[in-house]
Amino acid sequence: MKAVVLREYGGPEKLVYEEIPDPVPAANDVLIRVMATALNHVDIDVRNGTSGVESIQRLPHIPGVDAVGTVQAIGSDVTLWKVGDRVTPHFILSCGKCANCRGGRENICTDSQIVGLTHWGGYAELLCVPERNLVRIPDGVSFDAAAAAMTPFATAWEALVITAGIRAGEKVLITGAGGGVASHAVQVAALAGARVIACAGADDKLEKVKALGAEAVINYKKESLVDGVVRVTGGQGVDVVFDGIGGDILKSSIKCLAEGGRIASIGAHAGEVVDIDMIEFFRKHLTMYGCGRSTKEIVSRVLELMDVGKLKPVIFRVLPLEKAAEAQILMESRDFFGRIVLTTS
Ligand SMILES: [Zn+2]
Repeated sequence: MKAVVLREYGGPEKLVYEEIPDPVPAANDVLIRVMATALNHVDIDVRNGTSGVESIQRLPHIPGVDAVGTVQAIGSDVTLWKVGDRVTPHFILSCGKCANCRGGRENICTDSQIVGLTHWGGYAELLCVPERNLVRIPDGVSFDAAAAAMTPFATAWEALVITAGIRAGEKVLITGAGGGVASHAVQVAALAGARVIACAGADDKLEKVKALGAEAVINYKKESLVDGVVRVTGGQGVDVVFDGIGGDILKSSIKCLAEGGRIASIGAHAGEVVDIDMIEFFRKHLTMYGCGRSTKEIVSRVLELMDVGKLKPVIFRVLPLEKAAEAQILMESRDFFGRIVLTTS
């Protein structure tokens, strides 16, 4: 098969498109003909060998967390899938045996592999995973759309609906709303009946976020996040913050919360260590959740909502697999809105 192989950590030039032997499915494995893979920020860490990647990964490696395709072959013991089924591997290859898996929380499996991180991923024509880790893709959802949007929608759903428990009419602040997950979170919050306030650092991105369902927007390069929230909420603050940035934005967003407010934190690329004023935190009865990995059930649900048009993928660009390095340079430039997809079809 053709694949983008990483043999040593470094810049985009380390991603080499080459011919390697096809993977062979074990008895319980499904071999997937990959049709599309979306770029994920994790792919950049994987290439650079940063954020703890080096300690859990072996080289050579094939990146690609968010892959979709059709079943090309099945192992001798596979019963759930047949050749031709449209599927996606849930990126958390859960064990199916630990207490969390048994309790229906396979998203926090204590013995999982991760597609594209510890297990060869979707920057390839073929991908092998255990049959228990697959999710069906509805016929009405294209491969590009599924690859682009299933993970951001599912991540946002898990954080906003399941974990933070947003309710109709609540005010929800979404930080870094031009980003891949956050731009999809705007739609999830709006679909759940929340009043969405989105912030980002560029007016053109904020215009696009408005079109996705944000009621109010804040450009934090023009006014402080706290001033912006005071302005658009009449001083009341917000009920929930969805944050994938961390650092000073997370610190400011705590000040944006009304009494009893909740924060769902799904990432911290702009600052992993944050000092928090705990006096304000407990006096306002705030709650902070760490979250960001959804279960297969939620992936399945958001794919169904995409199928009926209730959630719409935000795709910035589709490039052929051999242009993976170019796609990652584009992602690192931050000059995009929505998701970048690699296709093999
Ligand atoms: Zn498990």
